[in-house]
Amino acid sequence: MSGRQNVAGTGAGADAPCKALPLRYNAPMPIRRIAVYLWAGPTTCIGLVLVILAITSGGSARVVDGVIEAEGGLVEIFLRRIVGLWLAGGASAMTLGHVVIARNRACHDRTRAHERVHVRQCQRWGPLFLPAYLAASAAMFLMRKNAYRDNPFEREAFSQAGPVSRD
Ligand SMILES: [Zn+2]
Repeated sequence: MSGRQNVAGTGAGADAPCKALPLRYNAPMPIRRIAVYLWAGPTTCIGLVLVILAITSGGSARVVDGVIEAEGGLVEIFLRRIVGLWLAGGASAMTLGHVVIARNRACHDRTRAHERVHVRQCQRWGPLFLPAYLAASAAMFLMRKNAYRDNPFEREAFSQAGPVSRD
């Protein structure tokens, strides 16, 4: 017998060096989840206005993986015509916090991976997401780059989710 005992559950010897406790506090999952929704809440509230617009004008909405997806009605016109004023051809979908609006259900299916990257950006940036996104687009425009494609938020979404086919 060597006289060494195993520390319960670790399999490490009693003379193994002590592991330092992590300094970062990890809140329990439900609390973290609520905090993330609250942090993104101001942006989500803008998205909720568009959800109401969609469902009161013939569109529809549902929850997919913790995100409200709305499409159709006036939201379809908004993405096609209003967004089309500064983005050629308009947008297929758009993320506002934990809300994603799209022209129709097929657009949600095509763009979901891309838009989920934007959801994670909203979770990181919270209420600063929209100002930061718009400032990044303005900076790209002033640098004579493409205000959409060269925007770092879009570059991250395209690099993580791949290209999005247009309808
Ligand atoms: Zn995008």
